[in-house]
Amino acid sequence: MIAKQDIIFNDIHGHLGSSLKFSEKRGDWDNTKNLISKGSDWIIEQVKASELRGRGGAGFPTGLKWSFMPKNKTKPHYIVVNADESEPGTCKDREIMRNEPHKLIEGILLAGVAMKANHGFIYIRGEFVDEAKILNKAINEAYDKGYIGKNACKSGFDFELTLHRGAGAYICGEETALLESLEGKKGQPRLKPPFPANAGLYGCPTTVSNVETVAVVPTILRRGAEWFSGIGNKNNTGTKLFCLSGHINKPCVVEEEMGIPLKELLEKYGGGVKGGWANLMAVIPGGSSTPLIPSKVCNNVLMDFDSLKNEGTGLGTAGVIVMDKSTDIIKAIWRLSKFYKHESCGQCTPCREGTGWVMRSMEKLIYGHAENHDIDILKNVCDQIEGHTICALGDAAAWPVQGLIKHFRYVLEDRIKDYKNNVLKVAE
Ligand code: SF4
Repeated sequence: MIAKQDIIFNDIHGHLGSSLKFSEKRGDWDNTKNLISKGSDWIIEQVKASELRGRGGAGFPTGLKWSFMPKNKTKPHYIVVNADESEPGTCKDREIMRNEPHKLIEGILLAGVAMKANHGFIYIRGEFVDEAKILNKAINEAYDKGYIGKNACKSGFDFELTLHRGAGAYICGEETALLESLEGKKGQPRLKPPFPANAGLYGCPTTVSNVETVAVVPTILRRGAEWFSGIGNKNNTGTKLFCLSGHINKPCVVEEEMGIPLKELLEKYGGGVKGGWANLMAVIPGGSSTPLIPSKVCNNVLMDFDSLKNEGTGLGTAGVIVMDKSTDIIKAIWRLSKFYKHESCGQCTPCREGTGWVMRSMEKLIYGHAENHDIDILKNVCDQIEGHTICALGDAAAWPVQGLIKHFRYVLEDRIKDYKNNVLKVAE
């Protein structure tokens, strides 16, 4: 369990206010000039030593990612913050932008110093209207106080920051689609390589980082890499924001240490599963794209990247969706299939055709038009989507269904049986 003094987001629920005055009281912008003066290599080394892994879903080591930017600057460098948080079940970046926006802005400045980028962008999800207003206000406050802009924090480093609102497409959360959209084009993922660190925004070296990832960096630099790496488990360090939703008594966003047991997380902060722990059916642990885990796995699993990977799922965005025994699990996963079908950008055939195929097959299973062999065909289609597309949306569409078949095949078979035996009536 996290110690009170280790909490990074002290006001994540917005009790005090998001203004610069309250942010400074919370410790933001405290002698930032000193951190800047230590230079690019020092910041990157500290972030590497902290073992911070990206909080946007993939869990790639942040310091390593930042070190991919060219050492010799021949073109402008850019830092772009991915604030297009749209993964169902995920609402942590929104809380940071709403309640502690200065942590993010200070983090972007320091990331800019690390990567020799004099211009940063925040690409915010179009639907986040209030959050965009709050961020705009916070950016203006930071400019007025001289924290960003020319000679930021009187450090001699110039840094401009631009807030850009998206238009509401989930795919723009994919980093290269985000860059396309930021350039004013249709938000479709690019083929990689080249990777953004070589050719990103406007063809220049760019790093795209998640809101939470960037927002924790000032605290890591102030308190030291060792402090951060001492929290959590090996290779899964630090604190993490978890979003708890679904069939629990108190849905919330909470900061805890990496590796907290899922059961403890749900009981301590979520008020427990509705109807008690024995009423738990399954949990999606990391946002809608991660495969669900059944209750028997939930009993002991730890909430970190490696523990969840070992169970065939992932920490993803740490968007924990709880389903109790009242859930029609087939219909729940079908709803996700419908979402991914709708959000496919249509560039590659396995995703464009496959997501519709998966959604329709799931529909057949819900409404009794399926046979047992349809389950195998559905699994086959998912396996053919996974890993065969330009971006990870294809995988995201396949994984929930694969998880359903792996853990709840008996539910699918029982449903088919019930329709055949007239326990359920086949829909017209
Ligand atoms: Fe577009 Fe889907 Fe291909 Fe990604 S996987 S590029 S969303 S069609």
